[in-house]
Amino acid sequence: MENKAHIVVVSIPVFSHQASIQSLCKRLLQLNPHLHITLIVPILNSLSNASKSLIDSLSSYNIHSILLPPISFPQASNIHPSLQLPRAMSQSIPSIRDALISLYNSNNKLVALIADYLAYETLELAKSLNILSYIYFPTSAMVLSLCLHSSWLHQTVSCEYRELQEPIKIPGCIPIHGRDLPTALQDRSSEVYEHFLRRSKGLYLANGILVNSFKELEEETITALQEQSKKNKFPSIYPIGPIVQAGWVNNDNNNHANHYNDSDCLRWLDKQEPKSVLYVSFGSGGTLSQNQMNELALGLELSGQKFLWVVREPNDLPSVNYFNGSSKHDNILRFLPNGFVDRVKGAGWVVPCWAPQVEILRHKATGGFLTHCGWNSTLENVVHGLPMIVWPLFSEQRTNAAMLSDGLKVAERVKFNENGIVEREEIAIAIKRVLIGDEQTKIRAAMEVLKNASADAMKEDGSSAMVLSQLAMEWRNIGG
Ligand code: UDP
Repeated sequence: MENKAHIVVVSIPVFSHQASIQSLCKRLLQLNPHLHITLIVPILNSLSNASKSLIDSLSSYNIHSILLPPISFPQASNIHPSLQLPRAMSQSIPSIRDALISLYNSNNKLVALIADYLAYETLELAKSLNILSYIYFPTSAMVLSLCLHSSWLHQTVSCEYRELQEPIKIPGCIPIHGRDLPTALQDRSSEVYEHFLRRSKGLYLANGILVNSFKELEEETITALQEQSKKNKFPSIYPIGPIVQAGWVNNDNNNHANHYNDSDCLRWLDKQEPKSVLYVSFGSGGTLSQNQMNELALGLELSGQKFLWVVREPNDLPSVNYFNGSSKHDNILRFLPNGFVDRVKGAGWVVPCWAPQVEILRHKATGGFLTHCGWNSTLENVVHGLPMIVWPLFSEQRTNAAMLSDGLKVAERVKFNENGIVEREEIAIAIKRVLIGDEQTKIRAAMEVLKNASADAMKEDGSSAMVLSQLAMEWRNIGG
C-alpha cells in the first residue's frame, strides 16, 4: 500500500466552522489525492443534526474522522455563551493530544496539523511532536489582520475602541470604526476580550495561516499581511479561498436530503421569475428578538417584493442557538405578526430554522441575499454573485459588513435605530434598492466581477489553487 503523507485537521464545535474545514479537507484531496486526512471533531454538548450529516459524509471522500468525548457544562455554571466554546476547546486538549499521539504512531507519516483558529492551543501539541502546524482561518483576511494587530491596538489605544472618534487604520484594511470591530473587542475589561488577545497571540506559533479568502477579494489586505510575513513579523499567509460548501452535488445529495427533509422552498422558487426573490437568513444560529422579527416581517411585506425567509424562534440573545445549530421547529409561524402569513401568500415563503442555502443562492429565481454576514454566507454569496443587504448580529459580522458595504460596495447596510432595532420602513427601502432600484445595477455589476474572480481563483492555475497545491505538494514530499 502507498505510504501517504498524513495531515491531521482539528475542527471546533460550531457548524459553520465544521462545514468550512471539511470543505478544506475535500479541496486538499481534490488537489492532491496522495494525502491521507484525519479530521478530529471536538463536541460541545452534542452534535447537531447538521453537523452529523457533515461528518457522516466524510467517509465517502476517504476522510477519516475522530469524534472526541463531548464536553458539557452544568446548567448552573452560568458560563457566558462566548466563553463556552474556548472553555470546551481547552478541555478537549487532553483528548486531542491522545488522538494525535496515536495517529503519530500509526503507519502513514504524520506531517502537519491544521487547526481551526479557535483550536490554536493545539499548535503547541504539534510543536511537541515536531510536525508542521498551520491555522485554518475560516473568515476574512481583514479579521485575520485585526487579530494579528490586536496586541498593537491594545497597547496604542487606551479607551474603548467604540469611543474613538476617528476610524482605526490597520495596514491594507479599510479604515474601520471601533464599533465595527468584532464583538470580543467591544469591552476591554471582559474575559472575552482577554481571550481574544491570548488567542491572537497564539496564532504566531503557527508555521503558516491558511486564510479563506482570495487575492482578488482582499488584495491590499493580503499583500500587507504577506509583507509582514516576509519580514518574519507574521507567520506565512496563504490565501486559499473561497472554500465553500458545494451543496447537493458530488453525491452529497443523500446526506442532505435527510436533513432538509423537504425541498418545498426550492419547488416554490422554481415557479418564480428570474432574480425576483430575496433570500433572508441569519446563518446557522443567528436569532432575532420578537420585536425585531415583527419589524422584519412587516418590512418584507411593505417592500412588496418576493422573499424566502429562514425563521427561528425569537430570543433577545442573538447567539442563543449557536451551539445547537437550530432551534425547535414546532409551529414557528406563531411568532410572526397576526395575519402576516395570509397577507403574503404567494409573495413569500417561510422556512422553519434551516434551509438548503447553497441551493437557494444558486437558484435562478434568487435575486438578492439579506444576510447576517457570517463569512461562509458571504463567500457562498460571492460565488453566486448576488447583491447583498448586510445585517450583522454579533462576532466579526460587523467587520465583514463594513468591508462589504464601505470597502467593496457590493452591499446595502441596514441602519439600527437608537433602540438597536432595524425598522420596517428602513428594511423595505433596502430591499427595493437591492432588488429593483438603480443601485442594484451597480451592485450587481460589482458582484459579477467578484463572482468571476472567485471562480478564477479556484481554477487549476488560479491564485488560490496554486497556493494550496504547492502546500499540499510540500507535505506530500515530506511524507515521502
Ligand atoms: N446554512 C444553511 N442553511 C441555513 C442556515 C445556514 O445551509 O438555514 C449554512 C450556510 O450555507 C453556511 C453556514 O450554514 O455554510 C453558516 O455559516 P456563516 O459563517 O455564514 O454563519 P454562522 O452560522 O457562523 O453564523
